[in-house]
Amino acid sequence: MKILFASSEAVPLMKTGGLGDVSGSLPVALRQLGHDVRLVLPAYPDAVARVNDLEPLGTVHAPLAPAPVSLLAGLLNGSTVPVYLVHAPGLFDRPGNPYVGPDGRDWSDNALRFAVFCQAATEIAAGRSGFGWRADLVHANDWQTGLMAPLLLQEPERPATLFTIHNLSYQGTFDRATFDALDLPPAWWSPDALEFWGAFSFLKGGIALSDLVTTVSPTYAWEIRQPHLGCGLDGLLNHRADRLYGILNGIDYALWDPTSDPAIAQHYEAESFRLKRRNKSRLQQQLGLERRSESMLFGHVGRLVEQKGVDLILAVLPQLMAEPDTQLVMLGSGDRGLEAKLREAVASYPGRVATHIGYDEPLSHLVEAGSDCFLMPSRFEPCGLNQLFSLRYGTVPVVHRTGGLADTVIDATPGNLQAGKATGFVFEHADPNGLWWAIGRALDLWRTPGAGWEGLAVAGMRQDHSWQASARRYEELYAIARGYAAAAG
Ligand code: ADP
Repeated sequence: MKILFASSEAVPLMKTGGLGDVSGSLPVALRQLGHDVRLVLPAYPDAVARVNDLEPLGTVHAPLAPAPVSLLAGLLNGSTVPVYLVHAPGLFDRPGNPYVGPDGRDWSDNALRFAVFCQAATEIAAGRSGFGWRADLVHANDWQTGLMAPLLLQEPERPATLFTIHNLSYQGTFDRATFDALDLPPAWWSPDALEFWGAFSFLKGGIALSDLVTTVSPTYAWEIRQPHLGCGLDGLLNHRADRLYGILNGIDYALWDPTSDPAIAQHYEAESFRLKRRNKSRLQQQLGLERRSESMLFGHVGRLVEQKGVDLILAVLPQLMAEPDTQLVMLGSGDRGLEAKLREAVASYPGRVATHIGYDEPLSHLVEAGSDCFLMPSRFEPCGLNQLFSLRYGTVPVVHRTGGLADTVIDATPGNLQAGKATGFVFEHADPNGLWWAIGRALDLWRTPGAGWEGLAVAGMRQDHSWQASARRYEELYAIARGYAAAAG
């Protein structure tokens, strides 16, 4: 099958979160299944610098763009996946984060930027980009690609469309004036299309008008149909429930492998679990923590936003620090207020709390390898990748029972522990008491010799969260989407 995979980020070209991980590894897994998958991304400076042997392909029709748009082509690093970069002068050639400027605010022309991206990607999908390739199916991801399904519906013969929601709370919503300025077809201003409570939403276009819609875990697929997590789109998602599926993300086993990870101090596997502690020692040394192997080290990596529940970690910090021999490492950036509070925490508990504010890929690997426990008290979590990395690295996750966290972590109840099935600690309520209840259980198990900590960690390491099974599931859905597209004529 010829598949165009459209995304606003993909490892190693650009990453701000899980979308980048997925877009860098799912196409590779699909290619291994024999599909002709090609990736299209905006030509950010970092992406241009990172693709080897990039070649110009000529211009592509994107009428909204202020200057002629061209395509650059290469291969996704270390793979045989062709990648096309959409070069739109003045729109993507800005350094740093793809969505926000240096002041931390969304670029004011984001609607135009990603509308142009959708136009150019649609030209490729429709076979008009001059290199003799036309997609059978477009797999579009998140709001930045939400106009592709509506644009493709205007084609006399179109590829099938599958749209994946990686996080429903980022919707690409803009006002009427922006809609008019983009000169989009007036028929799109409709509750059945892009119109959304008096504004218009890119995300809604993808959900309402794609042949199939997926999200990144079965539980999140159910949660987003409920009013409290539906972000105003639960009605539409219920309406499209027969076209909505939840498929768990995998992780890239080549990049996240404790037996070969170049970013960690000591390689280890389930059979040599005890070697893992050397990574704790390195992490403690690197971040200025007391070097005590008997300390129980809790870690967290993530965007500092309300969703991730970092405030809950801060709320239980005094209790955690009142316990003997506990330490905490936090890696993240985002909300300036949370960043300041994390710095204060370091000052309050020197040698026991360490924070690295910023985005640091190698350090994120060392935190995974060096921590004993990984905290993920997310209020909601579409899939979550860090708990999957944690499982693979024998770092026991402590998670709120929501979305992909609920689908991937098995709670250490006495019964599950005895049966060897448990892989982490799960709590019901995203509040300080809930989190503290789970941390307390983790502390008890850790401190009780012979109670099964190592068995719990190793059970997680033995689970399979590679992409293979999920890629096969997408393959099945692509076939279903093509059936719907053919039936729609
Ligand atoms: P989300 O997509 O909501 O940010 P995910 O758990 O799906 O959450 O994916 C987050 C990805 O980004 C993970 O690979 C995580 O390790 C990475 N990440 C987030 N913040 C940082 C950071 N400060 N430094 C390094 N990696 C980070």
